[in-house]
Amino acid sequence: MVKTHSELDRALSGDTRALARLLSLVEDGSPRAREVIKDLLPRTGHARIIGLTGAPGVGKSTMTAALVGAFRAAGRRIAVLAVDPTSPFTGGALLGDRIRMQEHATDEAVFIRSMASRGHLGGLAAATPQAIRVLDAAGFELIIIETVGVGQAEVAIASLADTVAVLLAPGMGDAIQAAKAGILEVADLFIVNKADKPDAQQVVRDLRNMLALGANYKGWKPPIITTTATTGEGLAEVVTQLDAHRDWLTASGELTRRRHARAREEITALAYAALRDRVRASGVDELAARVADGTLDPFQAAEDILARGTD
Ligand code: GDP
Repeated sequence: MVKTHSELDRALSGDTRALARLLSLVEDGSPRAREVIKDLLPRTGHARIIGLTGAPGVGKSTMTAALVGAFRAAGRRIAVLAVDPTSPFTGGALLGDRIRMQEHATDEAVFIRSMASRGHLGGLAAATPQAIRVLDAAGFELIIIETVGVGQAEVAIASLADTVAVLLAPGMGDAIQAAKAGILEVADLFIVNKADKPDAQQVVRDLRNMLALGANYKGWKPPIITTTATTGEGLAEVVTQLDAHRDWLTASGELTRRRHARAREEITALAYAALRDRVRASGVDELAARVADGTLDPFQAAEDILARGTD
């Protein structure tokens, strides 16, 4: 473990390569990762986690790059986790290769990482909170989680954030699509991007109508901000509203509530995974044969499995 510990120290003290290796460790679900997470846990809990989601093409990566620029200008260290539940590839190519982010490529206070599912969504869902912890412990004050697409998986991953911003744009990722994906409920902020296009105001109107239908706010009404990410128009308002939401989260106690809820989800998922492994390893096939031929009832079989314990 000595190697891991020195690696941990290096990663936490600003060595980008060590940080990248540490992230690979937690992404792979390596047994050493568990040790690492335990060690760095006392240093976590300080980062602001912002989720950015929306359909492909709405302008998420353009907006992310613009936000990175704005937060860097304010002197903040910022990390971006680009999470793609649908892509089979991983290894940092996805976002790192995007030309728009190149201006930040040599800035040590900016760290960009892509994560993909490699066909195993459960693994990605489990790895993302660990990656957030690593970045948090490494002293990034802001972590943007950018998710690609608008499906249930994206909603789940966006929900790992303290503040969730949903991007829409005319012609793609409209309000109806977002409603279908269940994303309106998790949004703290709506950003209608591509405001330079004529249909943008229609997206705003559709969104207002949809939100009015389900209006049930507890102290925070999600604002709708119009932006043109390519020119930076509206960006200052996005930053203002992100800050306002953060202040509200803290003052209302909602931040604590959300973090508890996330921890509960995480523990439950880990416990289920462990239980699933236990069931698989416990000779379920032999019981299945008896249930199938009618000599054992399935309730008794399930009880027997659970009673077998971990041996
Ligand atoms: P993503 O798939 O959601 O990450 O979207 P991208 O950031 O890659 O943007 C998709 C395309 O829309 C790119 O060609 C961008 O240059 C363009 N784009 C992004 N924001 C705007 C905007 O505000 N106005 C217009 N007209 N184009 C934009």
